[in-house]
Amino acid sequence: MTFAMNQKSNDLKAKGIDIVNMSLGEPDFNTPEHVKSAASVALDENYTRYTPVSGSLSLKKAIIEKLQRENGLTYGPAEILVSNGAKQSLCNAVMALIDDGDEVIIPAPYWVSYPQMVLLAGGTPVHVDTGIGQGFKMTPEQLERAISPRTKMVILCSPSNPSGAVYSREELEALSETILRHEGLLVLSDEIYEHLNYVGAHASIAACKGMRERTIVVNGVSKAYAMTGWRIGFLAAPEWIVSACGMLQGQYTSGPCSISQKAAEAAWLGPQACVEDMRLAFERRRNLLVRLMSEIPGLEVSVPEGAFYLFPKCSSYFGKTDGSRVIKTSTDFAMFLLEVGHVATVGGDAFGAPDYFRLSYATSEENIMEAAKRIRKALTLLK
Ligand code: PMP
Repeated sequence: MTFAMNQKSNDLKAKGIDIVNMSLGEPDFNTPEHVKSAASVALDENYTRYTPVSGSLSLKKAIIEKLQRENGLTYGPAEILVSNGAKQSLCNAVMALIDDGDEVIIPAPYWVSYPQMVLLAGGTPVHVDTGIGQGFKMTPEQLERAISPRTKMVILCSPSNPSGAVYSREELEALSETILRHEGLLVLSDEIYEHLNYVGAHASIAACKGMRERTIVVNGVSKAYAMTGWRIGFLAAPEWIVSACGMLQGQYTSGPCSISQKAAEAAWLGPQACVEDMRLAFERRRNLLVRLMSEIPGLEVSVPEGAFYLFPKCSSYFGKTDGSRVIKTSTDFAMFLLEVGHVATVGGDAFGAPDYFRLSYATSEENIMEAAKRIRKALTLLK
């Protein structure tokens, strides 16, 4: 649905209509120069052949260093699998671990691909609703209630796409206590937005007591280093899980692009100032968008603690009309903003949260101001 919204927005653009695109989850910065140089060197040195399926040893060493340095986690090379983006890492884990009828707990709002991956593996997604009132975070009590004898996995995403919620170390400890009470229950921890955190240090649930053996950590270079097109992600997990995922990946895709692997190595081992520069820019944009959207009547806005999305509640507009159409769902709402306001967003229906809509602030401050102005004006037409 997120890509569909982007497509619709491009179609209108092709007709000459000026659209402000707030629909897609992709940093608008360029990949840092030292990372691009490492890719050039790899090319010049003919580093262009197959790597091992699980990734080159030197990249795995860089990932091991990153996990130690930034997350206090210790892994060996056999516990790392490098893939074509975090998306493949997530899909590897779900496909390898979920069998027919297994249940997977997914707090809503969720990233669109999680339930689809679970369904592809023959599993059953079990959604746990969290709303703006609880900071879009699942409580240990909600988790406990959702667990059944068939539950195999919980998928956590912190910082979250689409809500921007960030679980603190204490909140993860509390969830861990519940998880550890259930034998064999695993956590798939999507930490792709780790560095886009506006409240302090990132916490990984794998670092909570007793959780290392129960967690599959997924991360990558896409968001932190503005490298969405390079397609490098990884999972870090106990060896039995990594080797099962490696068997799948060996049949699907083999190892990821050799040149991208060299670039990712430079990203993780090189200077980190670029990450902080981008984080600060996103924080300024977040503050601006929160301020402007909070001033619009009928929208309920929370301050996202991470990632680059705002997830306002828009259900007060349901049932209203501009004379030609009635807004019944968040998808209708997003479509109205696109067609009348010329701002592309995504309805919360796509994320299992039908009262909300998502705006990505991975765009310039100028675009953010223009989008807020257009949204405010379009919404005055709804009575
Ligand atoms: N997880 C989440 C929550 C995401 O938002 C995205 C990208 N939109 C991914 C994973 C996929 O990241 P990658 O580009 O590394 O495959």
